[in-house]
Amino acid sequence: ETTSNTANTAPTTNAALYDAARAVIPGGVNSPVRAFGSVGGAPVSMVKAAGPYLTDAEGREYVDLVCSWGPMLLGHNHPAVVDAVHRAVDAGLSFGTSTPDELRLAELIAGKVPVDRVRMVSTGTEATMTAIRLARGATVRNLVVKFAGCYHGHSDGLLAAAGSGVATQSLPGSAGVTEAQAAETLVLPYNDRSALEETFTARGQEIAAVITEAAPCNMGVVTPEEGFNQFLRGITESHGALLIWDEVLTGFRASETGYWGLSGKVEGWTPDLWTFGKVIGGGMPTAAVAGRAEVMDLLAPLGPVYQAGTLSGNPVAMAAGLATLQNATGEVYDAITRRSQQLEQMLVGALTEAGVDHSIQRAGTLFSVAFGTSAGGVHNYADAQAQDTFRYAPFFHAMLEHGVYLPPSVFEAWFVSSAHDDSAMERIAAALPHAARAAAA
Ligand code: PLP
Repeated sequence: ETTSNTANTAPTTNAALYDAARAVIPGGVNSPVRAFGSVGGAPVSMVKAAGPYLTDAEGREYVDLVCSWGPMLLGHNHPAVVDAVHRAVDAGLSFGTSTPDELRLAELIAGKVPVDRVRMVSTGTEATMTAIRLARGATVRNLVVKFAGCYHGHSDGLLAAAGSGVATQSLPGSAGVTEAQAAETLVLPYNDRSALEETFTARGQEIAAVITEAAPCNMGVVTPEEGFNQFLRGITESHGALLIWDEVLTGFRASETGYWGLSGKVEGWTPDLWTFGKVIGGGMPTAAVAGRAEVMDLLAPLGPVYQAGTLSGNPVAMAAGLATLQNATGEVYDAITRRSQQLEQMLVGALTEAGVDHSIQRAGTLFSVAFGTSAGGVHNYADAQAQDTFRYAPFFHAMLEHGVYLPPSVFEAWFVSSAHDDSAMERIAAALPHAARAAAA
């Protein structure tokens, strides 16, 4: 008989699970954004998800407004996605070879946005890291321009003034990144055209790429000012630099064609390289770097820019991504748009009623709230940091207490899915006045 069964003594409450986790997992979490550092308390351990709901280890159900940080466009455990995954699992977990489904997913992506080539990777971090390497390989230049408050994953060069968990912890960057790497990343304020003009005038010959979130969603949402993305396209092109368009978060979520559909598609331009993640994996680890053939074909095995992955294009992940995108119909986006607008109206109503000064920043179906910002809104990272961040913790905990799971940081977007139905919205509506009053205190 083995002695490994600890079921009788295993922790079952969120607090006990967190205590046990801290003994074996740094900070008790496998990604810092899951920690409750900025809102306080023990993170909630989830054991089940269905539609718009999550269930925690104590059996409490929450309406989920995080949607696994974006992937769950159709809600949790959508039957078509689950079916596809079951079939893929039955056929084998990983082959380490080419597969028909990776081809179909690449073709599906290339049919939705104007990219010639798609290379699958496993995380958004790999996608942006590869895009930067490709841009350097293509231009034979070293510098990369990024914007303060934008998050592009955790590769060394992209952690300077990053959003998401780096913003939540108020870190300037990360220890362990060499000065040389940091020096090759030029950090500029978002929405600031003159800063870009000055930088390109001074160092244009050295700049390989500008990387931008198609619409920033990792310092809270920041709406790109009218024409800003088009300006990025123009200034990179005229200086021989590439534009890397990070749609890991917004891709096939901000709209049916991502944020590009609301920006480049309308204005008639395309970036050189794109990165996708989240929705294209439907909840499984998949991301992609994509773009123009001349640049993408620099990748190994065709070209000199090396990139690889044991589990890249994993068949189970491909099945989840394919089923998600195949079921992401116009009606799905209409539903998400409607629910997201309804949610915003409910939120604004509750905050206004409670007298809480705030502004809403929106990027397609994505939005977030900032406190104390009604006068000027939030246009860059400095604005995001200057808001009344202290109001978010009581707001968050009141929502949690009333059965709504929000991102545990004010610097994150709110995510809805097509599974958010009337009854989920009613639960949110019932929770919001409590949270608004807590935020007002
Ligand atoms: N780029 C953006 C815009 C993101 O929002 C994220 C993650 O949130 C990433 C890149 C990194 O993706 P991953 O967490 O899969 O490495």
